[in-house]
Order: sequence, then structure tokens, then C-alpha cells
Amino acid sequence: MKKTFVNREELEAIAQRYPTPFYLYDEAGIRANARKLRQAFAWNPGFKEYFAVKATPTPQILKILREEGCGVDCSSRTELMMAGRCGFSGSEIMFSSNETPAEEFVLAQELGAVINLDDLTHVDFLRDTLGTVPKTVSCRFNPGGTFTLGESKEGFQVMDNPGQAKYGMTRPQLTQAFRRLKELGAEHFGLHAFLASNTLSNEYYPALARILFQVAAELKEETGCHIAFINLSGGVGIPYRPDQEANDILAIGEGVRKAYEEVLLPAGMGDVAIFTELGRFMLGPYGCLVTRAVHEKHIYKEYIGVDACAANLMRPAMYGAYHHITVMGKEDAPCDHKYDVVGSLCENSDKFAIDRMLPRIDMGDLLVIHDAGAHGFAMGYQYNGKLRSAELLLQEDRQVRLIRRAETPDDYFATLVW
Ligand SMILES: *Cc1c(COP(=O)(O)O)cnc(C)c1O
Repeated sequence: MKKTFVNREELEAIAQRYPTPFYLYDEAGIRANARKLRQAFAWNPGFKEYFAVKATPTPQILKILREEGCGVDCSSRTELMMAGRCGFSGSEIMFSSNETPAEEFVLAQELGAVINLDDLTHVDFLRDTLGTVPKTVSCRFNPGGTFTLGESKEGFQVMDNPGQAKYGMTRPQLTQAFRRLKELGAEHFGLHAFLASNTLSNEYYPALARILFQVAAELKEETGCHIAFINLSGGVGIPYRPDQEANDILAIGEGVRKAYEEVLLPAGMGDVAIFTELGRFMLGPYGCLVTRAVHEKHIYKEYIGVDACAANLMRPAMYGAYHHITVMGKEDAPCDHKYDVVGSLCENSDKFAIDRMLPRIDMGDLLVIHDAGAHGFAMGYQYNGKLRSAELLLQEDRQVRLIRRAETPDDYFATLVW
């Protein structure tokens, strides 16, 4: 059974101060998980997690992660700006972008971020844009073909097979890119790949690591470049369904270590740092969307209308993704009612749950939609004139802090020309 990190009394008290819907994050859970990740890779002295900002672009969350030793992985100008304002600088920032506008490379350079190039043609584009290439630079690899390892259905929709994915360089292009970058003055190199999303397998990272370690050893041979780090990127998943088993991050860390010892050490590459860019794994379980049942409807099916909608959390409508729901205060009641739990958008895909067995829901009940801490608020939008909700932090001392206010109609109208 999935547990919420607040009980009904606490949540009712919070909802008295902040009207539903809102996002609530669990500081204690975020910190404990970040520490466990560091422990899993403690064998690698250079290890660093670069949290994927796009998963939860909220400054107070980024600052907590920074206190836990994390850097950030940015994909756009505004994410770079947010990272800078949160105090990240230099090698604490990874810039992994694709189809990158020139001015974003300029800003990344100003912040001293490590730039991760998505394509061979970006090498000269970068040189032309900056007048030089950075001393430390990274390249993204796409091995092509198919790769499946523990990927969920919607994970597959996010990434597709490498051979169909728009990201990264082919194997021969990597050699060319490293040679060209070296010629232009780069001294330290990184290698990056992202092959599968939301994986529920302790084998994903070790398998990816083995591929990248092998390629890194070859690139060192071929080009004489110094490989400083290998970036395993994101993709470690979380169990959205109560019957799924969570990844064991300690086992994952050990699996990567084994590959490191078998491939990199014999190649004389024992100084390579391991980087990760996890988003979902870092935040997913530690944030939820809180909403209230406001209508019930009995037609061909039983519907419960709630005050959140797909504009607050898009994943179910977009991918058919499962998000567990707890009816607060009824945790031990029998799940003997079959409901569609729906939002108010004029789109029939706006359903948080379809044919879900739940306890009897009464109007006014608080519902917690689980595992919304990553790619949740962040994918929100304003269709139907819906406004983005507030985000709240349940601090370690159990006090609640507003970390993003809810949008108002004025925010919505602010960009309009009348
Ligand atoms: C989205 C993304 C991530 C984070 O992915 P998760 O599945 O949330 O771990 C990391 N790196 C890059 C380049 C990304 O695009």
C-alpha cells in the first residue's frame, strides 16, 4: 500500500490556509533519498548528481538539493537563469540541451556551466558563437538501434528507441567531435547518453555504464583525449503503482562500480568521475498533488469531479500514466467503489483515474494524487484558462512553507495586448 507523507488532520489544516489544488513536497523525504544516492556512489570520489531542473523547476527545491551536494542539469535559458539565481555556478551546472539557440550557449559559458553537445555540427557552432571552446566539454552519444531495459510504457513514449530518437551523436561522429574539440583547445572530455526513461530495473544504469565506459576507452585510444567524466543522465524510475517494486539505488551503484572495475580500471581510466542527471528518481515520490472532491455524477459510469485537472498534472492525460490516489482519512476503508476521477477541462482525456477501485468518496474529501513531485507541476499549462497552482513545502520541522504562490487571473492576463 502506498502511504502519504501527511495525515488527514495535517492536510486539512494546510488546506485551510492554502486552498486546493496545490502541490506539496516532503523535505525530509527529498533529503533522505539524495543522501542514499550519494551513498550508492560513494566509491567514486568525483561523483555528482546534476538534478534535472525541468523535472521540478522550483528554487527552494533546488536549494535543498544543493545543500545535499547536488548540482543542476539545465536545458534552457530560463533554467540556466534560475540555477544562477539559486547560487549554482561553474561545474555545478550541466547544460544538456538540443537544438540549442546561440544565446543559450553564451549564457551557459558566462555561468561557467559544463556544456554537453548534442550534435557534431554544434562543435563549430559553439566555436563560432563563443569564439573558442571551453576547456571542459561533453558530448552526447546515441548508439542507435533498440534498447529496452525495464522501461515503462510512458517512459518509452518519452524516449523511444535510440534509433528513432533525435538526441546525440553516432559512434563515428563522437570520434570526429572529440578530435575537433581537442584541435580547438578542449582538454577534458565528458561522455553522456540517455537511453530509457522511468526504468524499473536495477540493471539500466549498469548496462548503460558498460556501453559508455567501453566507448570512452575506445575514444581515449583513438583520440588521446582525457575523459574526465561519464554522465549516466536520467532515467532511473519510480514505482507509480503500488504493486511495483522500487529500484534499489545501492544495488544500482554497485552494478555501476562493477562495470567501472571491469572496463575503466583495466584501460587505465581510474580517475573518471561518474555523473547522474536524475529528475524523477530525486523528486517523484516526494511530491503530491492535493485536490478536493467537488462533484459526483452518475451517468453511464460513476464520476468524481475534483478541483485539479490535467492542466495541473498532465501525465495521465498525455501518457495514460498511472498515479495512485489516496482518499484522506479513508486509508483503511474497503476499496469497494469504482470511479473515474476527473478534472474540469473540456477534454475527455482529463481523467486522473479510470475505473479505479477506491473507498466511497464524499464531497469535500481530500484526495492525494501520489508521485507527482517530478514532471508534475513542471508540465502544467493554462488551457481552458486554468491557472497554475501553489507549491508548498512540508519542512523537516513539519511546518508548511509556500514556495510558489498560485497564479491569479492578473498573471494570466499580463502578457495580453488588449
Ligand atoms: C529529462 C532529462 C533528465 C531527467 O530525466 P528523468 O527521467 O526525470 O530522470 C536528465 N537528463 C536529460 C538530458 C534530460 O533531458
